[in-house]
Amino acid sequence: KIKIISNLKEKKYINNIKNIIVIASGKGGVGKSTISANIALTISNLGFKVGLLDADIYGPSIPLMFDIENEKISLIEIENCKKILPIIKYGIKILSIGFFSELNKAIVWRGPMASKAIKQFINESFWDKLDFLIVDFPPGTGDIPLSIIQELNITGVILVSTPQIISLIDVRKSIAMFNLKQINVPIIGIIENMSFFSPKESPNKKYYLFGEEGVKKMAKYLNIKFLGEIPIIESIRKYSDFGCPIVLKNEKKIYYIFLKIAKKII
Ligand code: ADP
Repeated sequence: KIKIISNLKEKKYINNIKNIIVIASGKGGVGKSTISANIALTISNLGFKVGLLDADIYGPSIPLMFDIENEKISLIEIENCKKILPIIKYGIKILSIGFFSELNKAIVWRGPMASKAIKQFINESFWDKLDFLIVDFPPGTGDIPLSIIQELNITGVILVSTPQIISLIDVRKSIAMFNLKQINVPIIGIIENMSFFSPKESPNKKYYLFGEEGVKKMAKYLNIKFLGEIPIIESIRKYSDFGCPIVLKNEKKIYYIFLKIAKKII
């Protein structure tokens, strides 16, 4: 049985954070970080206080997407307690496991260690008050994602998958993980990324490169809310690579895709 939640904004602050929303996927490369970044910025644009935590130990990509790769982390003393100060960019507060890349290189992360680091990021950082902390989660169902979930007080999880079978198989494993009795994290819904491609010359034509509506069908079958589909669009990739996520650009059609999804989360 899968719980579906709504009205997250009615929630109270725990540790200054109202909602921790995890963005997860079965495998890497499906667009989890791209979606985390654009959703965080869209929710912020709607007037909420938003933080973005890049917890993807295996390949932190948020610093590149926000052009903050060379930022140095500083500490601030609050009530005799040293806290990590998130980087503020485009109006949201950001921390990434990638800021500790020297550490990353030296350490082979193990589950308990990774989860401790992420827990510290959440509890020992000066986020101030947040309505939403969006967490870009490590992909898969290994030891590391599993120990991180157990440490966090997650409001709900959003899954990302592309429509091809190989991605669907893996995202089903993730769904099973979040539904484990000991974990039992509410699943808010699933997003299909790279759903189709429409060439500029014929914008109404849709090419389903990875199969048609695979995620939508699976969501229906598993009784999980379908949050929306995002086509393959060159500028989504381009602006991420340039350090400025697409929703900050004046591309109305794409903004509305993310807005529609964001409204189902808040
Ligand atoms: P993940 O976090 O799941 O590993 P990323 O968000 O890093 O995946 O995305 C992988 C690559 O695909 C990136 O280069 C990203 O810009 C690109 N990408 C993601 N979603 C789309 C999309 N809808 N259209 C075009 N490119 C995309």
